[in-house]
Amino acid sequence: MNSVKKENGKPWRIIDVINWGVDYFENKSLENPRLEIEIFLQHILDCKKIDLYINFENEVSAPDLNTLKGYIKRRLGNEPSQYIVGKSNFYGRNFYVDNNVLIPRPETEILINACIEFLSMKDNPEIIDIGTGSGCIGITLAKEIPSSNVIAIDCSEKALAIADKNAKYIGIKNIDFVKSDFLKQSIDLRTDLLVSNPPYIPKEDISTLMADVKEYEPSEALTDNLDGLEFYRVFSKRFDRMIKIDGALIVEVGKDEHPLEAKKIIEQSGYANIEMIKDYNGDIRVLKVMKC
Ligand code: GLN
Repeated sequence: MNSVKKENGKPWRIIDVINWGVDYFENKSLENPRLEIEIFLQHILDCKKIDLYINFENEVSAPDLNTLKGYIKRRLGNEPSQYIVGKSNFYGRNFYVDNNVLIPRPETEILINACIEFLSMKDNPEIIDIGTGSGCIGITLAKEIPSSNVIAIDCSEKALAIADKNAKYIGIKNIDFVKSDFLKQSIDLRTDLLVSNPPYIPKEDISTLMADVKEYEPSEALTDNLDGLEFYRVFSKRFDRMIKIDGALIVEVGKDEHPLEAKKIIEQSGYANIEMIKDYNGDIRVLKVMKC
């Protein structure tokens, strides 16, 4: 193996690279230094996280160190590590991602759990996922509930191509992808579950986001270009027509006042059966609106 020596004459082992990366990213004020270096090493060495720590004494080759150097350079230009390696983990599975789709967020797993719990009583549930992006929500539900049928909608052709690739990679057939702009086109379908993690950041807040997000993630996946509440207005308008009796709308919401503002919009449309689901920090992340 083509090896590179450290200053002390010893080769770089996996653990040395991890320790170096944690320090380096910490100094550059990245939020999750360990996670960042782990994502890069897992991709370069084509292994799972646990393998890094089991094989921690293995030497990292010169070409691999060189590849890592290139990744770190891109990361320092604020490109998210998930776009650099082209994948992101969600609900225990890898999804292809590029800058045409939002990087799946761990919080969205709370939305998935709420959906799985809600659907556990239903046979062959029908699900519509609005703004599927990478497909992480629709695909995860289709995989976790094999008897379900999922329709996943997005306005972006490029996002749908990624989502389709993910469905094939994860190996599911019970999902169809449809190109449609939900805010502009109505959908003449009734479903047991309407689910979405819509673009909910107010346009005026975009400038306050981290550079990684605002410079690299697709803006149409982040904001409705209005007050961040437009999707909830349209969900409320279409609720009756799109959701079956005993069905539900389960949607992710943002931070601070956003969950209560979204809830108010839905309530004002006459739907009072709303459950607020919190994340591990105690923040409201999901609204579940039942149709009785
Ligand atoms: N449904 C995708 C996700 O949750 C994309 C969401 C979006 O683009 N707003 O990651």
